[in-house]
Amino acid sequence: MSRNAESTAFRSALEVVRGVEPRVADAIAAELADQRESLKLIASENYASPATLLAMGNWFSDKYAEGTVGRRFYAGCQNVDTVEALAAEHARELFGASHAYVQPHSGIDANLVAFWAILADRVESPALRKAQARQVNDLTEADWFALRRELGNQRMLGMSLDAGGHLTHGFRPNISGKMFDQRSYGTDPATGLIDYDRVAVAAREFKPLILVAGYSAYPRKVNFRIMREIADSVGATFMVDMAHFAGLVAGKVFTGDFDPVPHAHIVTTTTHKSLRGPRGGMVLCGPELADQVDRGCPMVLGGPLPHVMAAKAVALAEARRPDFADYAQRIVDNAQALADGLLRRGATLVTGGTDNHLVLIDVSGYGLTGRQAEQALLDSGIVTNRNSVPQDPNGAWYTSGIRIGTPALTTRGLGAAEMDATAELIHTVLSQTTPGTGPDGAPSKAKYVLDPAVAESVGKQAADLLTPFPLYPAVDLG
Ligand SMILES: *Cc1c(COP(=O)(O)O)cnc(C)c1O
Repeated sequence: MSRNAESTAFRSALEVVRGVEPRVADAIAAELADQRESLKLIASENYASPATLLAMGNWFSDKYAEGTVGRRFYAGCQNVDTVEALAAEHARELFGASHAYVQPHSGIDANLVAFWAILADRVESPALRKAQARQVNDLTEADWFALRRELGNQRMLGMSLDAGGHLTHGFRPNISGKMFDQRSYGTDPATGLIDYDRVAVAAREFKPLILVAGYSAYPRKVNFRIMREIADSVGATFMVDMAHFAGLVAGKVFTGDFDPVPHAHIVTTTTHKSLRGPRGGMVLCGPELADQVDRGCPMVLGGPLPHVMAAKAVALAEARRPDFADYAQRIVDNAQALADGLLRRGATLVTGGTDNHLVLIDVSGYGLTGRQAEQALLDSGIVTNRNSVPQDPNGAWYTSGIRIGTPALTTRGLGAAEMDATAELIHTVLSQTTPGTGPDGAPSKAKYVLDPAVAESVGKQAADLLTPFPLYPAVDLG
């Protein structure tokens, strides 16, 4: 495809939007400019390809398609069927899964689909069986009461939030924390690593219906073979949420014991993080759960987004190409170069390094909270996010960590030398920032002091670092 075509496509699209609401067109153009200028180290973000982005702006958005391929509640879904089937086929081939459900609108939605499927499959409830057999009219008031009681309060064992787990794995701010009786496993305080023996003990004591693995802020591989053995030893369904590292699985960086797909009963993911697709989610599973997973819409999901499924098909086709495996390997190489650069300059890293796409800096080593560090870095043109570290003394709001990741910068083409330079910039900002005080003179967890000249100089160097690696080089909005 010619680069000219990409430029023309985006330019023309903006021109049409500008004719109706120019402020929206301006905001879209400004977003591209901002993304081009920022050193994006947010571990969960990426840059989707022009083909993926363009596949979303079209008539599929106008179509209702509840149900699944070939079994719709609406007429005229043949073209939606085409893209949904394509996306699912690419997903199955890419991950070696027997079933793929590509409708979830996000990672959280994918997890809800999985939770429902597991509950429906596992909970022993005669009333639920009747409902599943679509004998809804035969259910008495007492049946419905029993069904609600039996579905509720099931047990889930997942990774604790401060060790890097996700809200949707049974924590209070998410509905999963209200649905499930949850217990969590943490990491070894000495090494920062998952202690599988302790997970096994927790599983034996708690006897969860669901054992969840997967994380948003754990910088290491997880051995899914061992986790599956633990799940099997207590009769739990083993679910892996690979939202963050799906790209590393797709790119065959995580194989064998570290590839969740052959080991888990069910795998959920986002499509927009390291996988580099459109904003969305997906569920992979074996034949046992496929039927329940396919009930996702309307069971827990709103109507499918066919335009996003079209973009998922495009992005998954891209991920099946050999150059995606190269991309995935470079993500990890870059994360390791970044970690090494930080360690050499004296930073403290959770687990002492990384073997995936992310690095977690314990900024208490610089005398800062995560919030102070995040803002000081942002002032200096470096976009990261604060994150708890294990046993964080500053809680989930202020935190003591900064999470950084390499999927986005790797897409731009930055390599090991630029990662070392990035480590230097981060270290400069963090070592030059000092905690501020509140109005009463007491130490503040939010206020900080950073010489604006340092912020400006680092910002300039960050921008220079990006100059040789233009984002969407073919797209010129004029
Ligand atoms: C990002 C993430 C999610 C949520 O994804 P959304 O698309 O934001 O809903 C779920 N689980 C994990 C582990 C994640 O990292």
